[in-house]
Amino acid sequence: MQFNDPHQKAIYSEPAPIKRSHENPFEAMVERFDIAAKILELDEGFYEYLVTPARIHITAIPVVMDTGKIKMFEGYRVIHSDILGPSKGGIRYAPDVTLDEVKALASWMTWKCAIVSVPFGGAKGGVICDPKGMSAGELERMTRRYTANMTDVFGPDKDIPAPDMNTNEQIMAWILDTYSMQAKRTAPAVVTGKPISLGGSEGRREATGRGVMTVTLAAMERLNMRVAGTTVAVQGFGNVGSVAADLLTQQGCKVVAVSDVSGGYYNENGLNIHAMLAYSAANGNSLEGYADASPISNQELLSLDVDVLAPCAKEDQITSANADSIRAKIIVEGANGPTSPGADKILAEKGTLVIPDILANAGGVTVSYFEWVQDRQGYFWTKDRVERRLDRMMSKAFDDVYDKAGKHDTTLRIGAYVLAIKKVADALKLRGIYG
Ligand code: NAD
Repeated sequence: MQFNDPHQKAIYSEPAPIKRSHENPFEAMVERFDIAAKILELDEGFYEYLVTPARIHITAIPVVMDTGKIKMFEGYRVIHSDILGPSKGGIRYAPDVTLDEVKALASWMTWKCAIVSVPFGGAKGGVICDPKGMSAGELERMTRRYTANMTDVFGPDKDIPAPDMNTNEQIMAWILDTYSMQAKRTAPAVVTGKPISLGGSEGRREATGRGVMTVTLAAMERLNMRVAGTTVAVQGFGNVGSVAADLLTQQGCKVVAVSDVSGGYYNENGLNIHAMLAYSAANGNSLEGYADASPISNQELLSLDVDVLAPCAKEDQITSANADSIRAKIIVEGANGPTSPGADKILAEKGTLVIPDILANAGGVTVSYFEWVQDRQGYFWTKDRVERRLDRMMSKAFDDVYDKAGKHDTTLRIGAYVLAIKKVADALKLRGIYG
């Protein structure tokens, strides 16, 4: 950490009082954490340690815009924990990024890595910007300056970023290059989600959607549901949702509805996901105008009478306002934070099996870990090997969470938190408190 860098401040204590509100994602995380901590009878000091981000970096990013004028952007990198290993987590670019959101996402990364037994801690980054209104050159200059300001934070053994909302392979390539220029060596393992030609992994693009498919099948097995003909609705047709819809179809499920920002698309006999993938790819990643389905609203999609509902778009989609209308037997959270704590209670009472985000979408970080391992070995695996190892780790994680939830007679979400917090707390006990 660079105290002498004027563009970077480090804050060790909580920056501002957190508003008690369900829209506050950090609060939503703490609400679940509290329940799990109680079950674990977590020591008070451990509680405070594990709920507090280890480091929060806030950086000012000056960018020369295409007009020639300088514009300042604010960027964050929150390291929630590095107890289990170097911290890991994506970077999001969005106009409404908040520090609380980044803190919540960073802590989810800690719990996610613990659940899938990946030797990483949790982190997340964000830059407040409107990437859709920026040119490629402006995005490149902003990414490079953010990375330069974070040179002492990032590192293959310290903190490893990855893509998240509105960041992609190209942005990861710029991070790799900027970090490598400063380190005076090419350091592919500093970032994951890179293009394959720069040390990216086969199977990374599909990893999160594939993990969603694996845990969905595992849940169906526990509920004695037949896979063939099981009806599925998927909210979001991006990286996670489109791959999950495609793979679940390949397994024999009937995906009857999908949606994206343009709205929902329904066909009771099952949608042609292949055709929709091709349409969306040719239509600027949008399903707008797709004709071979009936239009439905996003709300209608969520309350369809289906076996499986996969929210794979964004946070806060299932809240206490609409949870009662959900009819799916299984909800599999491809997105981060799609269900509010208030909705959790309603769904638990209804008997809906919710596969929580920190388990359901952990396939992405699992293959990021594979990418990091391959970069460090300089030896690259086949897609088949990546998929087999991913399937194995996701199935085991599902079983571990399911058993933990059963043992404590609680939901899968709280079971997942109990499992993760215990793993991190046990490691902390062994490491002890330095100083
Ligand atoms: P993406 O940008 O590729 O896709 C998002 C999709 O959601 C798009 O189709 C978009 O049109 C749609 N969408 C946005 N708002 C919507 C709305 N109100 N109603 C319906 N659809 C809407 O993003 P992604 O990478 O697929 O990520 C989706 C979610 O999964 C996010 O919560 C992300 O944090 C989480 N996630 C992603 C990964 C990953 O590897 N990509 C890993 C873990 C978690």
